Amino acid sequence: MRGTADFSPSFSCPPVSGPPRDPHPSSARRSAVLEIAHEVGFDLAGLAPLDAPPDALRFERWLDEGRHGTMAYLERARRVTVDPRRQWPTGRSLLVVGFAHSRASIDLAVGERIARYAAGRDYHNVVGKRLQRLRRRLQAEGLVRPGSAFVDATPLLERSHAARAGLGTPSKAANLLDRRFGPWFFLGEIVLETELEPSAPIDVPSCGTCTACIDACPTDAIVAPGEVDATLCISYATIEHAGLVPHELRERTEGWAFGCDVCSEVCPWGSKAPDLAERFGTRPEFEPRDEPGAALAEILEAGRHDDGEAHANRWRGSPLRRPGREGVARNAAVALGTRPSERGRDALLDAVEHDPSPVVRAAAAWALSFGHRADRGVAEALERALSREVDAEAADDMRRSLERRT
Ligand code: SF4
Repeated sequence: MRGTADFSPSFSCPPVSGPPRDPHPSSARRSAVLEIAHEVGFDLAGLAPLDAPPDALRFERWLDEGRHGTMAYLERARRVTVDPRRQWPTGRSLLVVGFAHSRASIDLAVGERIARYAAGRDYHNVVGKRLQRLRRRLQAEGLVRPGSAFVDATPLLERSHAARAGLGTPSKAANLLDRRFGPWFFLGEIVLETELEPSAPIDVPSCGTCTACIDACPTDAIVAPGEVDATLCISYATIEHAGLVPHELRERTEGWAFGCDVCSEVCPWGSKAPDLAERFGTRPEFEPRDEPGAALAEILEAGRHDDGEAHANRWRGSPLRRPGREGVARNAAVALGTRPSERGRDALLDAVEHDPSPVVRAAAAWALSFGHRADRGVAEALERALSREVDAEAADDMRRSLERRT
């Protein structure tokens, strides 16, 4: 997810033994590898040494401070994340690639907003397939021995490695910035069991005195330059976190129903990046697949008939499949509370009484109390829903919503 790394100048792990160094590092071979990456269709490519990246120490401090919230897998993977040689002892270099996506605006019809990267097909699949193509080409050419290939699914401080590989410069919002694409690109990596000379990091300061992302973040989640507290970040709250999120955070989500683009949108590198379509033509796989805003309202309305399978079928191949029906319906409910509408009110009234998920019922109750607090019919519906609520946690959450309303 966006905003899980922080940045540190120095740290090194004890060396882990691996195979003997390649005795013939060759700049021609290095150039050929990068050229193939571009031929396969990646917009950016660079090489980094496979060892502890510069941000490892600050990542550990970030974990120690509990800023990863309920993402326990990050804690479990701590050792290999700070030094990937523990995971890939035969790896020598890391090939890092970038694939740009559209920055076309996606503000949805009924007030929910979805991060741009998630409007089309799941980038894990799209970039992953391309990465496998690259891996096969490298294997076939016999230039290097390619090992594992991955997209945002493996314990790796990928933005830190990518910065070292010259793919961009780190921003105060913990994004990576490219002159042409701003922050609007995905990363992928291939471990190489061949040592190649690393690329040069970009020696250009990205942010200077600019604090646009820090100032604009709706939830004050950027707690220091380059450091995002995930427990405050809308991306975490709407994608990574299961269950109910704190009321204070719900109030500040500004209609975001899946991810958040605010820190990228206000960044001068992000807002001035030329639209991808102007330079490279469209990338249909990342264009909005239909009208997701309407679909989210539909998911909320159809909750009582959906055991999760309909959601999975509806969003097959999309990142919105990931949090499941309960997560997406919860997000839709909260979004409809921060962006109230007549249609949303009706969907929320239905959900608070009939949704099979206590998390969604509680989120709908909160949304009604927050977005429709002056509506007398809403007050009666909330009292009725609370009196019938069988889930203790949902009932407690509803009670707090009602108290806040009065
Ligand atoms: Fe997270 Fe949005 Fe804040 Fe960026 S602007 S740190 S994505 S909440």
